[in-house]
Amino acid sequence: MTIPNGLPAGPGRHAYPASARRHAPAPARSPARTAAPDDAARPAEPGARVRAISVQQPWAFAIARGGKPVSNQPAPTAYRGPVLVHASMRVDLKACDSPLVRAAGWDPRDPLATIGAVIAAAELTDVCSAAAHGDCGCGPWADPGAHHWRLGDVRPLPRPIVALGRLGLWEPAPHLVAAVHAMLSV
Ligand SMILES: [Zn+2]
Repeated sequence: MTIPNGLPAGPGRHAYPASARRHAPAPARSPARTAAPDDAARPAEPGARVRAISVQQPWAFAIARGGKPVSNQPAPTAYRGPVLVHASMRVDLKACDSPLVRAAGWDPRDPLATIGAVIAAAELTDVCSAAAHGDCGCGPWADPGAHHWRLGDVRPLPRPIVALGRLGLWEPAPHLVAAVHAMLSV
C-alpha cells in the first residue's frame, strides 16, 4: 500500500487521513479523542473525518450489495478513510443490462437501487493508478481507463438517506454523517 504523504499507516489513519493535513493545527473539537485510545473507534463515529463519493446506479448498488470492490474514478486521491457511497441522480442505463451487474444481483425494486441518496458506508483503502500500464489485478469491475478507488468494509444502509451529491470526493454534512452512523450502530 502506498502512503503518498509519507506518513506511516497506523491506528490513527482513519481519523487523520492525508487530506486532513492543514498548514495550521486544527483546534481540538473533542477532548475525549485525545483522552481515549483511537483504535477501538468506528470510522464513521461523529466528529471523525468522512468523505463521500457519488456513483451512478447500478454501480452504486453493486458496491453496496454486489461485492464491487472498486469505484472507477477519473482522478486519484490521497484521501484514505471512511467514505459514504452516494447514488447520484443520473443512471447508467446501459450498465443495468451488463452481465457483471446482473450477476451482482441488481434489482431495481431494492431500496438501495434508488437515486439521490446515500446507500452505504465503506473505507477507501487504496487507489490504483496502474491500469493504463496493463492488468493491475483489480478484477473485473475495474475500468482500464480509470483510477481504481479500492473499497473495503462496505456496509449497506438498512434504508437510503436522501442527499444531494457532488462530483469528486465531497464532504458530507455532519447531520448526514450522524444519520449514517446512527443507522449502522443499531
Ligand atoms: Zn487497478
